[in-house]
Order: sequence, then structure tokens, then C-alpha cells
Amino acid sequence: MAVVGERRAGCDGCGRTISLEDLTAVTMPDGERVACCPECEPHARAAARKGSSLDQRRAACDGCTDTFLEAELEDVVLSDGTVLTCCPSCAAEAPGTDVGVGAEGDGSATDGSADTTESDDADDRTRCTQCREWVTEERFRVTTIDERTERLCSGCKADAEERGIVTDVAMRKIEAREVLGVERAVSDDRLREAFHEQVKRAHPDRKSGSESAFKLVRDAYDRLRDED
Ligand SMILES: [Zn+2]
Ligand SMILES: [Zn+2]
Ligand SMILES: [Zn+2]
Repeated sequence: MAVVGERRAGCDGCGRTISLEDLTAVTMPDGERVACCPECEPHARAAARKGSSLDQRRAACDGCTDTFLEAELEDVVLSDGTVLTCCPSCAAEAPGTDVGVGAEGDGSATDGSADTTESDDADDRTRCTQCREWVTEERFRVTTIDERTERLCSGCKADAEERGIVTDVAMRKIEAREVLGVERAVSDDRLREAFHEQVKRAHPDRKSGSESAFKLVRDAYDRLRDED
């Protein structure tokens, strides 16, 4: 009476549960054996021949909507934090960078506006606001417990931290540039581009990323967009 042991198992390709008898084992290049239903078997064998693996799923690019192997698609983070999945060519045009058209090759065409920010280290702005020493290094922008913003040399900054009067030390621009890998006279476009590149690497959803790496990149970007 009992439906004796029609044993069923899932196909590793499509995930359907079918009778065990209908599953065929296919050995993939990495030595892994996958169980396939009759429909998936030819795909698995073809994949094995090409030296790829069965679970190469395909997905649509959010840009051109064409279908690509998932491995070819990459995440693009827009300025508002939206993550799009894009094929290589759409990713290069990076919708979020909105001015990213022809990003490469126009390195020399930076629009003059970049060099006008050099006044950065004019006059007494390179003096430590504490000890009044002239400093050649970039000063630390320190916020104190009484909510003043001071520009301190590293000595005074260390001093202030020791006295416990510091509530915040802004990342120095020199460090921020290092984080994003940009030059001092970086254009806004290039800066945004560099930010997007680094976010892709540092985003917590990525293997290469983490919460702290992501924050560092964001802080660096914020710092460099900051006028002072
Ligand atoms: Zn299947
Ligand atoms: Zn695309
Ligand atoms: Zn000082």
C-alpha cells in the first residue's frame, strides 16, 4: 500500500524536487558533483566543459536591462545610496555620477575652478590657533567641548585631547585625499568618481568592505567637499 520509497531530491541546477531516479550526477571542473534533472543535465555538462560552474546565474543589468552573467555585473552606488546592478559598460557610465560621461581622457580638461581653492593655506590660516606657531603641516580641525572650532598643530591637538576638551577632530584633508586617492586640485567630478570607486570597494555589503571602511570613505568625501 505504501508509496514505498519514491525518494526525491532537489536538482542542483533549477532547485526542483524530483524523483531521485531522474537525477544525474555531473562532475564539475572543481570536482564538485552536482545532481541534475534531465533538463539541467545538458547545461551542467556544457558548463563543465567550458570550465565554469553550474550556478552561474544570469541577471539583468539595471542600466541597459540586458542579461549578463552575475559575475559580470557589478554594484554601482549612487549619490543617494541606491545600489544598482550594472553590466561593465553601464557601470563605466555610472548613472549616479551623472556627469561621468567620458570620464576618462579629460583629465587635462579640469575646469579651472579646481585651482582657485588654493587659498586654503593663505595668511594666518596656517597658524595654530592655540600656540600661534606657524605650521607647514595641515592643522587639525578640532571642535572643543565649548563648541569652538580650533585649528591646531599636532602638538596642541594632542595636548587638547589629553586635557579632555576635544569633542571632535575632523579628518585632515591630506588623509581624506589619501583615502580617496585623489590629488589636491581634484575637480568635483573626479572627486565624486573617486568616491564612487572607493564606495564600491568599501561598502559593507561587499566582501572587501566593512562598516568602518565605508564610514572612512564617506567621511573623506564629506571632508573634501567641505570648504574649510
Ligand atoms: Zn533542474
Ligand atoms: Zn548594462
Ligand atoms: Zn599649536
